[in-house]
Amino acid sequence: MAESKRDYYEVLGVAKGASDDEIKKAYRQLAKKYHPDMNPGNKEAEAKFKEASEAYAILSDQDKRRQYDQFGHAAFEQGGGTGGFDFNMGDMGDIFGDIFGDLFGGGRRQRTSNGPMKGANLRTGIRITFEEAVFGTEKELELNLKDPCERCHGTGAKPGTTVESCKKCGGTGQTTVTQQSLFGMVRRVQACSDCGGTGKIIREKCPDCYGSGFITKKKKIQVSVPAGIDDGQSIRIREKGEPGVNGGERGDLLVEVAVSSHPIFQREGFDIYSSAPLPFTTAALGGDVRISTVDGDVLYTVKPGTQTDTKVRLRGKGVPSLRNSQVRGDHYVNLIVQVPTKLTNEQKELVKKLDDLLNGRTPEHEESGTKERKRFFKK
Ligand SMILES: [Zn+2]
Ligand SMILES: [Zn+2]
Repeated sequence: MAESKRDYYEVLGVAKGASDDEIKKAYRQLAKKYHPDMNPGNKEAEAKFKEASEAYAILSDQDKRRQYDQFGHAAFEQGGGTGGFDFNMGDMGDIFGDIFGDLFGGGRRQRTSNGPMKGANLRTGIRITFEEAVFGTEKELELNLKDPCERCHGTGAKPGTTVESCKKCGGTGQTTVTQQSLFGMVRRVQACSDCGGTGKIIREKCPDCYGSGFITKKKKIQVSVPAGIDDGQSIRIREKGEPGVNGGERGDLLVEVAVSSHPIFQREGFDIYSSAPLPFTTAALGGDVRISTVDGDVLYTVKPGTQTDTKVRLRGKGVPSLRNSQVRGDHYVNLIVQVPTKLTNEQKELVKKLDDLLNGRTPEHEESGTKERKRFFKK
């Protein structure tokens, strides 16, 4: 990771010898431009904001800046980041509280605690057959899903009672703790222990949801499995996860698909592989051989003298592409010549005759050869 990180001075757009004021000024400008409150839903802005904040966290601290000047990013990489800085958005706002305090007023806290927040994603799994993965299918899932409680409208408080703002955290749902870290004292934001991060204290709980604000119900969910899906891939079903908080949208449901193996077919990407028996007479004479595919049996014509282990390709008989189901992979078949294990007397005579002809035996040899063979077959 260290190699891919940009130089902190470069991130802030200042010279190596920049003064503390220059660094602060540069950061303020970047923070203003890329702050998530100013760019809702913009991932690129969020990444830039984090990058700038991280650079500022290091360069605004005399000790850390000295370490960085000496060792570069390596100075902060040890221990995989544990014990050092944990750069998440919650910490950011707090570490730079002084800057955001005058830039954004109280808005920052509003966003992180009481603003609309998307619910968490839920994960589940389904198992489908090989053919269902190839051609797609519809499945029905039964899941326990949380819904906002109708009786209290999700507040968790008994109807008619009021919800108080938590005194410990001032209704923000967050408290700040100061911790000793590798680089000195670090302020860290935690969920408030009194209100559990909700910012609210419920005196009388709603009897339906016991104060949680949610009711869990069994729900049937239709899953459209697209043609071409492979083992281990997930299907995202929007807004079937946990309910959002404060009017935020629901999280998503991620359905991981397990595909059962097939007795004949194997799959690699969008191609299918299998073996098919080739009767030895067809192998010798040429002709049609029956091959099983996911579309049913097909007849494939082999030329005379086809050997065992011959590989043939059936174009477009593979798995449809997930992006365009009109485009399909191929089916590769390994033809295995089958020698019969049981022959009638008549068949034996014919094979024997063929054998004699192929080996160019004279009639005398044939006579003795026949006796030999008769003894052999009787065993
Ligand atoms: Zn309720
Ligand atoms: Zn609280």
